[in-house]
Amino acid sequence: MKANLDVLPLSSWIETGDKPLIIAGPCSAETEEQVLETARGIAKEGYAHILRAGVWKPRTRPGSFEGKGEEALPWLQKAKEETGLKTAVEVATPQHVELALKYGVDVLWIGARTTVNPFNVQDLADSLKGVDVPVLIKNPVNPDLALWVGAFERIAGAGINKMGAIHRGFSNAQETKYRNSPMWQIAVEFKTLFPQIPMIGDPSHMAGKRAYLAELTQRAMDLNYDGLIIESHRNPDEAWSDASQQLTPAALGEMLKSIEIRKATYGVDFQSELDRLRQRLDNLDRELLEVLASRMAVVEQLGEYKRDNNVAVLQLDRWKQVHGSRAEWGKSLNLYTEMVEELFKLIHMESIRKQTEVMNQQTA
Ligand code: PEP
Ligand code: MN
Repeated sequence: MKANLDVLPLSSWIETGDKPLIIAGPCSAETEEQVLETARGIAKEGYAHILRAGVWKPRTRPGSFEGKGEEALPWLQKAKEETGLKTAVEVATPQHVELALKYGVDVLWIGARTTVNPFNVQDLADSLKGVDVPVLIKNPVNPDLALWVGAFERIAGAGINKMGAIHRGFSNAQETKYRNSPMWQIAVEFKTLFPQIPMIGDPSHMAGKRAYLAELTQRAMDLNYDGLIIESHRNPDEAWSDASQQLTPAALGEMLKSIEIRKATYGVDFQSELDRLRQRLDNLDRELLEVLASRMAVVEQLGEYKRDNNVAVLQLDRWKQVHGSRAEWGKSLNLYTEMVEELFKLIHMESIRKQTEVMNQQTA
């Protein structure tokens, strides 16, 4: 994928020294008191550079809290005046952009449900023409690198040159550990394509649960992300949205202290090419195993189906077809045929073992 994006370094619009950029704040702005109290807590802790708050909330189902809208923007202004923190909100329409700018919001972000739609992103780009404001773009909800890159191209096309990427993970078809699968490899590929674009991790929306925030934050820091956006609320359990993934400002401070934060600068000075490539391999191997695990889950279902219909585990015709097609697919991907054949023999053996186990479950 080729793209040439003119993006200024993070230091051109925010001063973080040699520390990662930290954006913290509630999922949603709920009341003036809630915004101010949370902002005060965050400012007191001293780790954050920017206060985030959702003012317009893109909800999966109607009827959930959809944000306070314009009414909440003066609360953010007050929080900024009082604490000195810059502010950031999510924008999804040109009207949101207009209002956010009118009330002096410092940084805009485009949410995952907006990045998926090129029409919406283009509308936002058109509304940003001639405006000098940093724009952060969350990955789209589906794992599509080109769609993410396309959003950057559209916003850059409007003349915006202060940009950052937010990696918030990708939605799952099945129940998984995390609310949104990180699929680190996609963000690493993004970083490889655009080393000049700051990468910001969003462990909150990856995790969905407080318990997973630290491990995901550590992972993002290990991958040399330039910053983090983490949800923090004065009283997380009472939050009107995303209650189970938010931390109090103090708990967020504790969590950040437990993270080993390596130098945020991403480049040859701090990380050798060897390390970078090994990290990519680690990520790819994890994904390889995740794919294998999904395959085994399907094998198990197949075993149950065969058992219930009294069909033998091994069907030679099918195996011959699998054997042949995988070797062909491998060849077209420039993979060594013998390796592909050996690999599938192993996978097939394990599938048979698993299905036999399923068969025996009934007789047991
Ligand atoms: C949010 O940041 O609160 C949000 C709605 O996130 P996402 O767009 O990643 O779902
Ligand atoms: Mn949220």
